Amino acid sequence: MKSPLHTDRIRIIGGDITRLEVDAIVNAANSDLVGGGGVDGAIHAAAGPDLLKECLGLGGCETGSAKLTRGYDLPATYVIHAVGPIWHGGGRQEEELLASCYRRSLELAVENRARSVAFPAISCGVYGFPVARAAEIAIGEVAAFLDTTAPIDLVLMVGFGEETRSALEAALATVDAKRRSE
Ligand code: ADP
Repeated sequence: MKSPLHTDRIRIIGGDITRLEVDAIVNAANSDLVGGGGVDGAIHAAAGPDLLKECLGLGGCETGSAKLTRGYDLPATYVIHAVGPIWHGGGRQEEELLASCYRRSLELAVENRARSVAFPAISCGVYGFPVARAAEIAIGEVAAFLDTTAPIDLVLMVGFGEETRSALEAALATVDAKRRSE
């Protein structure tokens, strides 16, 4: 058995990510970093117009990567803008690109000494990624990252709506069960 169980630092919650008092919240952004609908719109609305000003100076962001800004009027200190893949059926490296978003976001958090991080279900809205598979990738990547010596205390996975929340819970239970039997 692995000791300690790093999945203890992953928590699944419901609700609105913009309300969370964590060091960094992750945004499901688009590659132009110009704001948009869904969680992106909610984050920009709650952070205020200075967030867009900072985003516009970043020169966009590649799919599978992420960039960090301040949080402005949000309770969170930072926003990590991760660009998830649009789902095209699975043949365009969507799974690798989604995994890379989670990894890169956590790397940026560590680089900026953010110890608590909250993620939305990246790509699971208008980008159309199948939710159950996205949840497995998300939990798998976060658990693997926490297995390194990363100085992260808590990762909140925000399931906005019942389907996403239960998919995340199922994925975490699977990873946990596997760890406990190792
Ligand atoms: P994408 O373009 O990456 O698919 P979306 O914003 O459309 O991004 O959706 C990503 C996920 O964020 C979806 O599961 C959606 O339900 C969820 N979501 C939307 N608004 C919020 C919010 N305020 N807090 C947390 N999650 C949210």
